[in-house]
Amino acid sequence: ALPTIYVVTPTYARPVQKAELVRLSQTLLHVRALHWVVVEDAAAPTALVSRLLATSGVPFTHLHAETPPESRRRPGDPPWLHPRGAEQRNRALRWLRDTRAPGDGGVVYFADDDNTYSVRLFEEMRSTRLVSVWPVGLVGGLRLERPLVAGGRVVGFHTGWKPERPFPMDMAGFAVALPLLLERPQALFDPRAERGYLESSLLGALVSPEQLEPKADNCTQVLVWHTRTEKPKLRQEEQLQREGRGSDP
Ligand code: UDP
Ligand code: MN
Repeated sequence: ALPTIYVVTPTYARPVQKAELVRLSQTLLHVRALHWVVVEDAAAPTALVSRLLATSGVPFTHLHAETPPESRRRPGDPPWLHPRGAEQRNRALRWLRDTRAPGDGGVVYFADDDNTYSVRLFEEMRSTRLVSVWPVGLVGGLRLERPLVAGGRVVGFHTGWKPERPFPMDMAGFAVALPLLLERPQALFDPRAERGYLESSLLGALVSPEQLEPKADNCTQVLVWHTRTEKPKLRQEEQLQREGRGSDP
């Protein structure tokens, strides 16, 4: 049987949330042997996400983990002050460790709700033995970041920002074998990691850089893009709400 790909998606309530999740769910519908682990940043599961998952056609598990107040962004804080989605991804790791058996094959991928994924990416990651890696487009202030490969091994990274990081890669640029995550139960994301070090906080507990497995034609193909959705301007909405005739939420 094909190893199952566990796609872990943190998500939080905002006007574009449903649009993001519809787009992502319709990408995931094209992938066989996939299980979507959606983790809401909320004190309880919401009706919106519950309904969306139930009607999506994608096999799923619906979890929640609220970002604690000390890690939450306060008005005026720059968006990069706290890593986003760390507690939610850790909740998914705990679910995997609680419910999957050591002999179960599988691959875990951390897929944010706003990125753009080629369906080909999922077949690239399916053969992950420890940790596999590939390029990510539109990230780190570059057209793309990617691992540099020589003789089939990762020998460095094309990156412009904090190249001294142990794993100078975006969350979208790697997948981890489930058996490895089960063998290393202490490996987690560090919600207090310095900016840019969240990926390294998990990966450093799992592998060394030379063990990374290059995918996507030796990391020459871009199959995922770190797209970010523009925040919609809802000025008229606020005006109408003041008049008591805002759009039905
Ligand atoms: N996220 C979350 N809670 C938040 C902010 C973000 O769960 O308070 C989720 C978000 O839905 C996404 C992931 O965490 O799946 C990464 O967030 P974002 O896309 O904003 O980060 P960036 O694009 O800046 O890396
Ligand atoms: Mn994003």
